[in-house]
Amino acid sequence: MAEGERPHVVIMGAGPAGLTAAYELYKHDVPVTILEKDPDQVGGLARTVEHKGYRFDIGGHRFFSKNQEVEDLWTEILGDEMLNRGRLSRIYYRGRFFAYPIKAANALWNLGPLEATRCVASYAWARLRPVKNPKSLEDWVRNQFGWRLFTIFFKTYTEKVWGISTRELSADWAAQRIKSLDLWLVLRSALLPRRRPSNRGEVVTTLIDKFRYPRLGPGQMWERVAEISRKKGSPVLFGRSIDRVKHDGERVRSIVSRSATGILEEYAGTDFVSSIPIRELIGRLEPPAPEPVRRAAESLSYRDFISIALMIDRADVFPDNWIYIHDPSVRVGRIQNFKNWSPDMVPDQTKTCLGLEYFCFEGDGLWTSDDAALVELAKKELAQLGICSPEQVFDGVVVRQQKAYPVYDDAYQSHVDVIRNYLKNYLPNLHLAGRNGMHKYNNQDHSMMTALLVARNIAAGTAFDPWRVNADAVYHEDIRVGERDLSGRQVPEKIAAR
Ligand SMILES: Cc1cc2nc3c(=O)[nH]c(=O)nc-3n(C[C@H](O)[C@H](O)[C@H](O)COP(=O)(O)OP(=O)(O)OC[C@H]3O[C@@H](n4cnc5c(N)ncnc54)[C@H](O)[C@@H]3O)c2cc1C
Repeated sequence: MAEGERPHVVIMGAGPAGLTAAYELYKHDVPVTILEKDPDQVGGLARTVEHKGYRFDIGGHRFFSKNQEVEDLWTEILGDEMLNRGRLSRIYYRGRFFAYPIKAANALWNLGPLEATRCVASYAWARLRPVKNPKSLEDWVRNQFGWRLFTIFFKTYTEKVWGISTRELSADWAAQRIKSLDLWLVLRSALLPRRRPSNRGEVVTTLIDKFRYPRLGPGQMWERVAEISRKKGSPVLFGRSIDRVKHDGERVRSIVSRSATGILEEYAGTDFVSSIPIRELIGRLEPPAPEPVRRAAESLSYRDFISIALMIDRADVFPDNWIYIHDPSVRVGRIQNFKNWSPDMVPDQTKTCLGLEYFCFEGDGLWTSDDAALVELAKKELAQLGICSPEQVFDGVVVRQQKAYPVYDDAYQSHVDVIRNYLKNYLPNLHLAGRNGMHKYNNQDHSMMTALLVARNIAAGTAFDPWRVNADAVYHEDIRVGERDLSGRQVPEKIAAR
């Protein structure tokens, strides 16, 4: 910014990162313009969709953070509208529910004597004849648990989520994340149970057993911030897709947005915050970024997502917030029960709204199926799982979500580094924040923390490094470094080609 120039920040994207940046900039009296491609919704991946009074998330969104500042911000924005919720989520496999996190005794008990014996035998075999130097997730988990437990509890779900064979995923991730098994302890608790293990599993009070949730879903948080923004005189400008990011090789000067009908508008600013996917941002630079930078951006990949909300004429369907579907006979990966997140997610307490989640790639057979076929698929799979009959489903809505998950393949980090270095050296007033904005498989708290730091750097001239906020939203200069990750944010990586 030239001396004496008044700051004005253009923000790309009105998800948690973009809106948190705006919220913080208002506190510093810095005016903003917020450009959002969605025609009428804020919140991005954390939006809440409404259909005839039924509200549902793009995947259920727990609000919890190790970062007190983020927790306080949620309270500041929504106050009493933030509910405290207990978590129940189980694994469904071949007609049975298993505790999650997995408890070996509960698992063996639920599998029944025959399958449990097979699992123990396969565990013993794996211990006697382990795969030497396991490189893949499959080999590592099979060594620790035996082939049968691996196929039941790890293989199907991991492959559903990432669309990659467990043979191609790195063992490192599993080794960091998954506790190995002590057969003796498991057998003792399975064969000599003091009490029958319940389907609910034991309640261990940790960060993952409790969470907060806005009464009307995560979108309520971001709708409130958008409302504050409107009152400050900067309403979110909807239906503006970023078309060009114009720069002079030293600074970004303006953004050109395009509406659905092709109307182009140009917005000048002193600083620019991007929470849109890095691949898109770099592809829209004008003049174009150098070839290696463009190649790095084009190499970043994503996993996409379809959520099918079904309205059911039944008050109670299952008690969980969500269920992981490990059953290989269906394509659905997870089922949310939004009423169990907050009763106000449904307009009528005699009804239920379930969200069936399908992981896919944009353009694949699932993605291109028409909505009616997807609703039929979801109804059929619910019936197949014995959860409810198709006749009880009275309505259904399909939401397709591009780029729901940034993919961590073996080269993504080096690609991100190329882009970071380029922006740092050539376009220092273009700031990246958020999930796809930084290609981080994160939760909202990470998006918010990175946005807060970026906003402070712009408004107060601080020099925080948003890349040092880890995806578990502990800022590295914070004292709580090194806590165990309880959030499941770590992601399996593809094994490097040998
Ligand atoms: C299935 C699922 C479950 C999740 N569960 C949780 C959870 O339990 N708890 C939790 O805290 N987090 C959860 N998350 C993560 C959370 O959704 C994200 O961390 C958060 O939404 C990221 O915010 P963001 O602003 O960085 O990005 P986004 O939410 O992706 O927002 C980016 C915004 O930019 C807009 N945009 C994109 N491209 C353009 C363009 N070209 N022009 C203009 N605008 C554009 C988008 O429309 C969007 O509004 C979950 C995510 C998924 C997919």
